[in-house]
Amino acid sequence: MGSMCEITCKSSVTANRDGHWAAIGMFVLGAVGACAPASPSAVDDRPGDDRQSAGSGGATGAGGAWTGASGSSHVGGGGVDRGGGGGGGGAGDDASDGGGSFAGVGGVSQTGGAAGAGGVGVGGGQPSTAPRLPVPPGPADVPRPSGAVGNITVLDWAGFKGAVSYTFDDSNSSQIMHYAELQALGVPVTFYMWTARPAASDPIWATVLKDGHEIGNHSEMHVSNGTGEDLDAATAFIMSKWGVVPWTMAAPNGAPVYTTLAKGRFFINRGTKNSIVLPNDKSDPFTLPCYYPPEGAAASVLDEQVDSARTAGGWRIFLIHGFTGGSDHAFKPVPFQTFADDVKHTKAFGDMWIGRVDMVGAYWVGQKVFSQSTPTTAGAEKTWKWTLPDHFPPGRFLRVTVPGGKLTQGGAELPWDGHGYYEVALDAGAVTLAP
Ligand SMILES: [Zn+2]
Repeated sequence: MGSMCEITCKSSVTANRDGHWAAIGMFVLGAVGACAPASPSAVDDRPGDDRQSAGSGGATGAGGAWTGASGSSHVGGGGVDRGGGGGGGGAGDDASDGGGSFAGVGGVSQTGGAAGAGGVGVGGGQPSTAPRLPVPPGPADVPRPSGAVGNITVLDWAGFKGAVSYTFDDSNSSQIMHYAELQALGVPVTFYMWTARPAASDPIWATVLKDGHEIGNHSEMHVSNGTGEDLDAATAFIMSKWGVVPWTMAAPNGAPVYTTLAKGRFFINRGTKNSIVLPNDKSDPFTLPCYYPPEGAAASVLDEQVDSARTAGGWRIFLIHGFTGGSDHAFKPVPFQTFADDVKHTKAFGDMWIGRVDMVGAYWVGQKVFSQSTPTTAGAEKTWKWTLPDHFPPGRFLRVTVPGGKLTQGGAELPWDGHGYYEVALDAGAVTLAP
């Protein structure tokens, strides 16, 4: 990519955050295939998002686009992946990660799934890429803090004890064969597409996106000495086929060259070495760890990885290449039942966030960015400012709490959520706490 592309991409990201949605759409129309993460779906990233009607639309400066959808809670939606948490009161605000399709992830007060219709995004018609954060465990009637103005505390993992992401590499036939069963588990996952493979052109992937899963970049040719052009070709494939931006990638063969290549193209690159990611730790977002089980592994082997992540209060990312069977030889396949049983194990805790890499990753990166911000004081007010990294996806939030006072973004007061937090829009780049 030449410098023109870099400049154009950069300005499109700025546009995202400033709310010039129409301009983004036009840019993307002209640029599909030319340049990595600009967001064709940014125009409708959060339609049907009633949080915006609660005041942060103006705060983020994105009000123009989001306001169009505000008030229409749970309806419309940029796609079937947003839906509605059911449940009365505050619960209505909280579709799980993935919306109606995934109501119940996290296992707590979720009864949703009733709404979440939609299918045509506000102002765009593209599938949305930023579903709501899931409902955390715990009571839904936590009183709003009424103490003195103090500091802002970010809730780790959106209020969950830990997080798990399931990723599937290489777009192989065994994933497609088992997709209906996978979807029936009700958890959003990430598929990293090797776009030169025949299975990458299967019509199933449009359904996968509509169901609220993430499609990420795993390159076109899948070589260990990869190039930026090879990654860009896979991004162009994904954007032109399905009109979505891959915000994250997984390094083919875990090759180290992708750590450098991912920068400037994605906000996360998943590697292949295993460790637990902790809040505010020094894990490299461009070589995120993962655990991949040995061939034929039993569910108990995966369960141990979930358990240790939960004990540590961390994020475990799984890499499963595919399932036993299929016509194109998934690398180290495991029986589908292994995966299904481990998902059930994780869900049974009720306090683990099972989310896509872009969702959990944006929360983790966003928390780190916020935590590095030092507030400035003006009279009784404190203001935190931050700058999101390049290629950070739009429409993401942090959950925070305070001893007391009111939080505002762009002059609009943030509503208290009875599950125990305020939701701060990361796009806004600032939040103010006042008595
Ligand atoms: Zn691979």
